[in-house]
Amino acid sequence: MIHVVPPQVAPDFVRTSPLAAESGFIAVNEATLQHPRYPNIYALGDACAASNAKTAAAARKQAPVVAVNALATLEGKPPLADYDGYGSCPLTVEAGKIVLAEFGYGGTLQPSFPNWLIDGTRPSRLSWLLKDTILPPVYWHGMLKGREWMVKPHRIGA
Ligand SMILES: Cc1cc2nc3c(=O)[nH]c(=O)nc-3n(C[C@H](O)[C@H](O)[C@H](O)COP(=O)(O)OP(=O)(O)OC[C@H]3O[C@@H](n4cnc5c(N)ncnc54)[C@H](O)[C@@H]3O)c2cc1C
Repeated sequence: MIHVVPPQVAPDFVRTSPLAAESGFIAVNEATLQHPRYPNIYALGDACAASNAKTAAAARKQAPVVAVNALATLEGKPPLADYDGYGSCPLTVEAGKIVLAEFGYGGTLQPSFPNWLIDGTRPSRLSWLLKDTILPPVYWHGMLKGREWMVKPHRIGA
C-alpha cells in the first residue's frame, strides 16, 4: 500500500492577505479562534491556522465556538467559548473495518463513544458501519442543518 499526502496549502487569496499566519493559513488563537491582530475576525475550517487536524469533524465543533464568540464580540464582550482541537479521521485499514481516530490538540484522545463500544485505537466493523451507513444521513439531515446535541460549545472557565 502507498499512502500519499499532497502538501496542504491555503488558497492564494488567503495566503497573500494580511490575515495570514506564517503558515499561509488564517492566524487564530487556538482556543477562541479569534484573529490575534484583528479581534473582530474569526476563522474556522481548513483555512484557519489552528494546529488541529483539518477535518469536517473539526469544523463542525469549531462553528458553534465561533458563533458564540462572534456574537460576544458584536456585543463588545471578550470571547466566551473555546475549542479543544477536536478532529476525527476515519482511517480505512481494510474493506469493512476502520479506525475511528478522534483526538484534540497535542494528540489527546477524545472519543465520542465509550471504549467498550468503539475503541478509537483499533480497527472495528462497528466504526465502518457508522461511517458507511449511519453517518451519511446524520451529516445531511442533522449536522449540516445544525441539528445535533454533541457540539455544545465549551464556556471558558466553566
Ligand atoms: C478525500 C477527502 C476525504 C475526507 N474525509 C473526511 C472525513 O471522512 N471526515 C472529515 O471530518 N473530514 C474529511 N475530509 C476533510 C473535509 O472535507 C474538510 O476538512 C472540510 O471540507 C473543510 O471544510 P471547509 O468549509 O473549511 O472548507 P471547504 O469544504 O474546502 O470549503 C471551502 C469552499 O470555499 C470555496 N472557495 C475557494 N476559493 C474561493 C473563492 N476565491 N471564492 C469563493 N469561494 C471559494 C470552495 O469552492 C469550497 O466550496 C476529507 C477531505 C478529503 C479531501
